[in-house]
Amino acid sequence: MNEHDSERISGLLDADGMVAVDHQDEADVVVLNTCCIRENADNKLYGNLGHLRAWKALKEGRQIVVSGCLAQKDRDTVRQRAPWADVVLGTHNVHRASELLQHATVHGSVTEIFDAAVLDDHAQFPSALPARRENSYNAWVTIQIGCDNSCAFCIVPSVRGAEISRPFAEIVDEVQLLVSQGVSEVTLLGQNVNSYGRDIQLSARQGGDGAVKLRPLFSELLGQVAAVPGLRRVRFTSPHPKDMRADTFAAMAANAAVCEHLHYPLQSGSDRLLAVMHRGYTAERYLDRLQQGRVAIDDLAVSTDIIVGFPGETDDDFERTLEVSAAAEYDYAYTFLFSPREGTEAATLVDHFVAPSVVAERFERLRVVVERSALAKHRDRIGRVEEVLVEGPSRKDPSVVSGRTRQNKLVHFTPLRPIRAGAYATVEVTGAAPHHLVGEFRELLSEPTHKRRLAVLAG
Ligand code: SF4
Repeated sequence: MNEHDSERISGLLDADGMVAVDHQDEADVVVLNTCCIRENADNKLYGNLGHLRAWKALKEGRQIVVSGCLAQKDRDTVRQRAPWADVVLGTHNVHRASELLQHATVHGSVTEIFDAAVLDDHAQFPSALPARRENSYNAWVTIQIGCDNSCAFCIVPSVRGAEISRPFAEIVDEVQLLVSQGVSEVTLLGQNVNSYGRDIQLSARQGGDGAVKLRPLFSELLGQVAAVPGLRRVRFTSPHPKDMRADTFAAMAANAAVCEHLHYPLQSGSDRLLAVMHRGYTAERYLDRLQQGRVAIDDLAVSTDIIVGFPGETDDDFERTLEVSAAAEYDYAYTFLFSPREGTEAATLVDHFVAPSVVAERFERLRVVVERSALAKHRDRIGRVEEVLVEGPSRKDPSVVSGRTRQNKLVHFTPLRPIRAGAYATVEVTGAAPHHLVGEFRELLSEPTHKRRLAVLAG
């Protein structure tokens, strides 16, 4: 979400006539788009602002913008510690970035943070703004902002506010526009995508089965987006296990464009800790729903997020996490050492923090379990021919090309001739490692259709 906001701020500045440069010395404006989910985000921000003070003093007219959720959370501190910042704006003010810069040019520094609790008149979905995208063939599309949950470790609800769903038609329109510009893969983005529409009050309407429906469902959105002609791949992130419903699995199975990949955050395998975290499911329910998904969707790849060392985690709690991880047979997992985020409930549980050496040892044991299942899954794919969306030359060896399968697996292969990013090819899998596949090029399926990268004005 934070990277998507960065694309939108860049797009707004592009649309305002600015040009991105590679080096800070060439810049007139520097934007620091902060994310307080990152560890030490505040230390990094103030360190960078310290360096930028000297940068700013070297040339008249240079400006500094601080945006993102740290600015939203710590607006006064940012102002006090870095009064030389020209603009401080929050997560709901992204659309005002260029206006505020101009304002600061004329009137001096400005801070503008919309209070997440009173957003109704101001709700702005970053996808409805111009974008400067990293590439032209895939795109994030925001379907929802904010979150109504209260996971004990998470700062998101307090910096991004309550859940607000973007209007259904606006999302589909944006996807159609993106496809007309050469995008072939979209990722629907939200904090809890499968609760999409919960806040939308529609006048009662009859569904096809005669039942009265009050709001759109995520599964319906998935179906409509997947039906946009020319769109080859649809992904979404992240669903919440407590809101995972059979109709979402059915929509994934029924729509060919929806990729066979589910990111399904576990966080812990201990029911006791899941309750302390306020996650709203048990390990058994989590695994039951996962099994429903595997039955409904052929060849489903599953990834997850797991926190190791949440306050109060006992050896027994951690054993449950290992058991559930083994049972879930993940294709990959983002594993995190618990670290407190100021302002969250978990950060107050200081008396229950787990010793770092214990956390490190558990982390290593979990890594072994996850890599074992990932490697087994990857070895099972040897000999298969997979469709790959090409991302570009490998970082380590430019003669090798990297891309992603529909299951979101990274594949490295050597093409017969250069292939542009955004092309689709078939590749036979010949080798496997825990974090990637190796393959042999078979056939070029399509070239990218985009001509050049543009700042895109949606809607
Ligand atoms: S569902 Fe939980 S972890 Fe995800 S954004 Fe909401 S509060 Fe944070």
